[in-house]
Amino acid sequence: MTGRRLVLLGPPGSGKGTQGELLAASLGIPTVSTGALFRDQMARGTALGVEAQTYIAQGHLVPDRVTNAMVKSRLAAADAAPGFILDGYPRNVPQVAVLDEILSAQGWSLSAALSLELPEELIVDRLLKRALIEGRADDTEPIIRQRLAVYQCETAPIIDLYAARGLLVSVGAVGAVAEIAARIHSALGVDE
Ligand code: ADP
Repeated sequence: MTGRRLVLLGPPGSGKGTQGELLAASLGIPTVSTGALFRDQMARGTALGVEAQTYIAQGHLVPDRVTNAMVKSRLAAADAAPGFILDGYPRNVPQVAVLDEILSAQGWSLSAALSLELPEELIVDRLLKRALIEGRADDTEPIIRQRLAVYQCETAPIIDLYAARGLLVSVGAVGAVAEIAARIHSALGVDE
Protein backbone atom coordinates (compact mmCIF):
# COMPACT_ATOMS: atom_id res chain seq x y z
CA MET A 1 0.00 0.00 0.00
CA THR A 2 1.42 3.38 -0.97
CA GLY A 3 0.29 6.96 -0.46
CA ARG A 4 1.43 7.03 3.14
CA ARG A 5 3.37 9.94 4.53
CA LEU A 6 4.67 9.16 7.95
CA VAL A 7 6.83 10.82 10.57
CA LEU A 8 8.82 8.65 13.00
CA LEU A 9 9.33 10.07 16.47
CA GLY A 10 11.26 8.71 19.42
CA PRO A 11 14.47 9.27 21.34
CA PRO A 12 17.88 8.39 19.93
CA GLY A 13 18.26 4.62 20.11
CA SER A 14 14.53 3.90 19.98
CA GLY A 15 14.97 2.02 16.71
CA LYS A 16 13.59 4.59 14.27
CA GLY A 17 16.16 3.65 11.64
CA THR A 18 15.65 -0.11 11.88
CA GLN A 19 11.87 0.02 12.14
CA GLY A 20 11.61 2.71 9.48
CA GLU A 21 13.40 0.45 6.99
CA LEU A 22 11.12 -2.52 7.74
CA LEU A 23 7.99 -0.41 7.41
CA ALA A 24 9.27 1.21 4.23
CA ALA A 25 9.85 -2.23 2.70
CA SER A 26 6.26 -3.26 3.52
CA LEU A 27 4.85 -0.04 2.10
CA GLY A 28 7.16 0.19 -0.93
CA ILE A 29 8.13 3.78 -0.15
CA PRO A 30 11.51 5.29 0.80
CA THR A 31 12.70 6.32 4.23
CA VAL A 32 14.16 9.79 4.46
CA SER A 33 16.58 9.84 7.38
CA THR A 34 18.18 13.20 8.12
CA GLY A 35 20.89 11.49 10.19
CA ALA A 36 21.75 9.18 7.26
CA LEU A 37 21.66 12.08 4.78
CA PHE A 38 24.06 14.05 6.98
CA ARG A 39 26.39 11.06 7.42
CA ASP A 40 26.46 10.59 3.64
CA GLN A 41 27.33 14.27 3.12
CA MET A 42 30.06 14.03 5.79
CA ALA A 43 31.52 10.91 4.21
CA ARG A 44 31.67 12.67 0.84
CA GLY A 45 33.18 15.79 2.42
CA THR A 46 30.64 18.17 0.88
CA ALA A 47 30.25 21.75 2.18
CA LEU A 48 26.97 20.71 3.81
CA GLY A 49 28.70 17.72 5.42
CA VAL A 50 31.56 19.84 6.74
CA GLU A 51 29.11 22.31 8.27
CA ALA A 52 26.90 19.59 9.79
CA GLN A 53 29.85 17.70 11.26
CA THR A 54 30.67 20.27 13.95
CA TYR A 55 27.12 20.17 15.30
CA ILE A 56 26.66 16.42 15.04
CA ALA A 57 29.98 15.68 16.76
CA GLN A 58 28.82 17.72 19.76
CA GLY A 59 25.32 16.26 19.88
CA HIS A 60 23.67 19.53 18.89
CA LEU A 61 21.05 19.97 16.19
CA VAL A 62 22.32 21.06 12.80
CA PRO A 63 20.92 24.58 12.11
CA ASP A 64 17.39 24.57 10.69
CA ARG A 65 18.48 26.55 7.63
CA VAL A 66 20.71 23.64 6.54
CA THR A 67 18.39 20.81 7.61
CA ASN A 68 15.20 22.26 6.13
CA ALA A 69 16.79 22.89 2.74
CA MET A 70 18.20 19.36 2.63
CA VAL A 71 14.82 17.79 3.49
CA LYS A 72 12.96 20.00 1.05
CA SER A 73 15.19 18.94 -1.80
CA ARG A 74 15.06 15.24 -0.83
CA LEU A 75 11.25 15.26 -0.69
CA ALA A 76 11.12 16.84 -4.14
CA ALA A 77 12.73 13.71 -5.66
CA ALA A 78 10.43 11.53 -7.76
CA ASP A 79 10.67 8.49 -5.48
CA ALA A 80 9.08 10.44 -2.60
CA ALA A 81 5.96 11.29 -4.60
CA PRO A 82 4.09 8.05 -3.76
CA GLY A 83 4.86 8.43 -0.05
CA PHE A 84 7.74 8.44 2.44
CA ILE A 85 8.76 7.78 6.01
CA LEU A 86 10.63 10.62 7.69
CA ASP A 87 13.16 9.46 10.28
CA GLY A 88 14.73 12.22 12.37
CA TYR A 89 12.68 15.06 10.95
CA PRO A 90 10.98 17.16 12.20
CA ARG A 91 13.09 17.43 15.35
CA ASN A 92 11.88 20.75 16.76
CA VAL A 93 8.74 22.89 16.59
CA PRO A 94 9.97 25.22 13.79
CA GLN A 95 10.76 22.15 11.63
CA VAL A 96 7.15 20.99 12.09
CA ALA A 97 5.99 24.25 10.53
CA VAL A 98 8.44 23.88 7.63
CA LEU A 99 7.25 20.33 7.00
CA ASP A 100 3.66 21.59 7.01
CA GLU A 101 4.63 24.06 4.28
CA ILE A 102 6.47 21.46 2.20
CA LEU A 103 3.46 19.14 2.40
CA SER A 104 0.81 21.72 1.66
CA ALA A 105 2.76 23.06 -1.33
CA GLN A 106 2.34 19.58 -2.87
CA GLY A 107 -1.25 19.15 -1.69
CA TRP A 108 -0.02 16.40 0.64
CA SER A 109 -0.88 15.68 4.25
CA LEU A 110 0.60 13.44 6.93
CA SER A 111 -0.96 10.02 7.47
CA ALA A 112 0.40 9.60 11.00
CA ALA A 113 3.20 10.42 13.41
CA LEU A 114 4.49 7.17 14.86
CA SER A 115 6.11 7.52 18.26
CA LEU A 116 8.47 4.78 19.46
CA GLU A 117 8.48 4.74 23.25
CA LEU A 118 11.48 3.61 25.24
CA PRO A 119 12.40 4.17 28.90
CA GLU A 120 15.38 6.48 29.24
CA GLU A 121 17.49 3.97 31.18
CA LEU A 122 17.50 1.63 28.16
CA ILE A 123 18.56 4.30 25.71
CA VAL A 124 22.16 4.86 26.75
CA ASP A 125 22.75 1.12 26.92
CA ARG A 126 21.40 0.55 23.42
CA LEU A 127 23.45 3.38 21.94
CA LEU A 128 26.68 2.24 23.58
CA LYS A 129 26.09 -1.23 22.11
CA ARG A 130 25.41 0.30 18.70
CA ALA A 131 28.67 2.25 19.00
CA LEU A 132 30.56 -1.04 19.16
CA ILE A 133 28.85 -2.27 15.98
CA GLU A 134 28.56 0.86 13.84
CA GLY A 135 31.36 2.98 15.28
CA ARG A 136 29.45 6.25 15.04
CA ALA A 137 31.57 9.07 16.46
CA ASP A 138 28.56 10.64 18.23
CA ASP A 139 27.74 7.42 20.14
CA THR A 140 30.01 8.14 23.13
CA GLU A 141 28.39 8.46 26.56
CA PRO A 142 28.75 12.25 27.01
CA ILE A 143 27.48 12.94 23.50
CA ILE A 144 24.62 10.45 23.92
CA ARG A 145 23.58 12.32 27.09
CA GLN A 146 23.77 15.62 25.24
CA ARG A 147 21.60 14.22 22.40
CA LEU A 148 19.07 13.01 24.98
CA ALA A 149 18.94 16.45 26.57
CA VAL A 150 18.33 18.00 23.14
CA TYR A 151 15.65 15.39 22.51
CA GLN A 152 13.81 16.15 25.77
CA CYS A 153 13.99 19.87 25.29
CA GLU A 154 13.49 20.34 21.53
CA THR A 155 11.98 17.17 20.08
CA ALA A 156 9.69 15.69 22.77
CA PRO A 157 7.29 18.70 22.60
CA ILE A 158 6.39 17.86 19.01
CA ILE A 159 4.81 14.61 20.21
CA ASP A 160 2.08 16.65 21.94
CA LEU A 161 1.72 18.79 18.88
CA TYR A 162 0.97 15.81 16.62
CA ALA A 163 -1.25 14.29 19.35
CA ALA A 164 -3.32 17.47 19.34
CA ARG A 165 -3.76 17.04 15.59
CA GLY A 166 -5.04 13.50 16.12
CA LEU A 167 -2.09 12.05 14.18
CA LEU A 168 -0.15 10.36 16.97
CA VAL A 169 0.24 6.58 17.05
CA SER A 170 2.37 5.38 20.00
CA VAL A 171 4.08 2.00 20.08
CA GLY A 172 6.27 0.46 22.80
CA ALA A 173 9.82 0.03 21.49
CA VAL A 174 11.05 -2.51 24.06
CA GLY A 175 11.47 -6.07 22.81
CA ALA A 176 12.82 -7.95 19.80
CA VAL A 177 13.02 -6.15 16.44
CA ALA A 178 10.42 -8.47 14.84
CA GLU A 179 8.06 -8.09 17.77
CA ILE A 180 8.19 -4.29 17.62
CA ALA A 181 7.80 -4.38 13.82
CA ALA A 182 4.64 -6.47 14.25
CA ARG A 183 3.26 -3.95 16.76
CA ILE A 184 3.97 -1.06 14.39
CA HIS A 185 2.40 -2.76 11.38
CA SER A 186 -0.71 -3.60 13.35
CA ALA A 187 -0.98 -0.11 14.90
CA LEU A 188 -0.85 1.40 11.40
CA GLY A 189 -2.98 -1.27 9.74
CA VAL A 190 -0.19 -2.31 7.36
CA ASP A 191 0.39 -5.91 6.19
CA GLU A 192 3.91 -7.22 6.89
P1 ADP B 1 19.79 9.57 16.66
O1 ADP B 1 18.32 9.45 16.40
O2 ADP B 1 20.43 8.31 17.15
O3 ADP B 1 20.16 10.76 17.51
P2 ADP B 1 20.25 10.54 13.92
O4 ADP B 1 21.00 9.73 12.95
O5 ADP B 1 18.79 10.70 13.72
O6 ADP B 1 20.57 9.84 15.31
O7 ADP B 1 20.88 12.00 14.04
C1 ADP B 1 22.24 12.20 14.26
C2 ADP B 1 22.54 13.69 14.38
O8 ADP B 1 22.22 14.37 13.15
C3 ADP B 1 21.75 14.43 15.45
O9 ADP B 1 22.33 14.33 16.74
C4 ADP B 1 21.80 15.87 14.91
O10 ADP B 1 23.05 16.47 15.18
C5 ADP B 1 21.70 15.67 13.41
N1 ADP B 1 20.29 15.74 12.95
C6 ADP B 1 19.54 14.70 12.50
N2 ADP B 1 18.31 15.12 12.17
C7 ADP B 1 18.26 16.45 12.43
C8 ADP B 1 17.27 17.45 12.32
N3 ADP B 1 16.02 17.17 11.89
N4 ADP B 1 17.58 18.73 12.68
C9 ADP B 1 18.80 19.02 13.12
N5 ADP B 1 19.79 18.13 13.26
C10 ADP B 1 19.54 16.85 12.93
